[in-house]
Amino acid sequence: MSKREIALRRAEQLKEAIKDYLQTKDTIPRGMAPAQQEQYRRQKAKILALLGGSEEDWDDYRWQLKNRVSDVEVLRQIIDLAEEEAEAIRQVGKQFRWAVSPYYLALIDPENRYDPVKLQAVPTGAELDTGGKADPMGEEYTNPAGSITRRYPDRVIINVTNQCAMYCRHCQRRRNIGTKDFHTTEKKLAESIAYIGANPEIRDVLLTGGDALMLSDQILDWLLGELQAIPSVDYVRIGTRVLVTMPQRITDSLVEVLRKHPPLYINTQFNHPKEVTPEAQAACSKLVNAGIPLGNQAVLLNGINNDKYVMRLLNQELLKIRVRPYYIFHAKEVVGTKHFNTSIDDGIEIMESLRGYTSGMAIPTYILNAPQGYGKTPLGPQYLLSRGKRSIKIRTWESRVFDYPNEPTADLKQILES
Ligand code: SF4
Repeated sequence: MSKREIALRRAEQLKEAIKDYLQTKDTIPRGMAPAQQEQYRRQKAKILALLGGSEEDWDDYRWQLKNRVSDVEVLRQIIDLAEEEAEAIRQVGKQFRWAVSPYYLALIDPENRYDPVKLQAVPTGAELDTGGKADPMGEEYTNPAGSITRRYPDRVIINVTNQCAMYCRHCQRRRNIGTKDFHTTEKKLAESIAYIGANPEIRDVLLTGGDALMLSDQILDWLLGELQAIPSVDYVRIGTRVLVTMPQRITDSLVEVLRKHPPLYINTQFNHPKEVTPEAQAACSKLVNAGIPLGNQAVLLNGINNDKYVMRLLNQELLKIRVRPYYIFHAKEVVGTKHFNTSIDDGIEIMESLRGYTSGMAIPTYILNAPQGYGKTPLGPQYLLSRGKRSIKIRTWESRVFDYPNEPTADLKQILES
């Protein structure tokens, strides 16, 4: 057989390997698909008419924030809700806050009870299940000063607010959301800055909450400037979901503030390809064009993205808008969110279906947060089958098994000098 014939035969095998994905992918709703955009336009017009807003208002994040929907009767005029669903929302609302930005609401298919955007935004009776813990990571025990969370040797979190553009139904920090929006006081922020200044092993600071981009441009400018002035801080990261739930927040003036404080990284949380919309893309572009790399930390959620094709499409869609898939978090057993929990097997199966089948850039790390705040633990399928002194056994993405030499590392100087 000629080299060309061998290559053609291999190409056929490779095509076969993604046939199932190609057949399924177009059945998954995508934010960039014309049908989805048409539905978004219709829903947006309906919501604007209902709330008495203009096109200009829609593009203003202050209007979006002020007009978050948190009344079941208003919600019923936007999406279909059976009476028992409406009643469940009323009951859940007595215990947990809910509020959805008009933008995010417009992404919901109004007739689909199990729409993946709706499931993230609108409460269901399942939240009344009392199983799970309020603080499975023991964050209350990792606060050495100000509003800092410290779980690792060289990096810390500053919790800057409890406000979010939307209160996600799967929120893993649900206990922080409380019943009222409040930003961390300047005094507490100053204590956090002082702690970081006094502990020079800290080189990486993550601003989160809540949603760190709920802070005003002025406060962000001050905080980022203070952190940048600490010699041991190499860079700052910002945790925000506004790219997904309220992309209007990425204003030109915010981008100018962020651009002033490099190196700065932003991590966000897209969980479904439906959320990757032209509006989200425009917001991401502004940030990337300002030199801010974007990463995605999806949460593995039952009924939303615990599907190997959905997750593959999500990661491919994200790369198209210049967001690098970074983590898939295994959902913790947080009270009120247990119905979103999946088995570890679901996560492993997803990882197995990514490696080799799509670009390495589209493959995040699957992470389990160890109990009591003992840190992120990567999980995945096994590719190293055995490890001997002189050789290892590996399994490839297609499950071909090979032995591979494992010689002790030679001294480079000796090699070069011999
Ligand atoms: S944006 Fe993040 S912190 Fe806020 S509710 Fe959603 S998951 Fe929780």
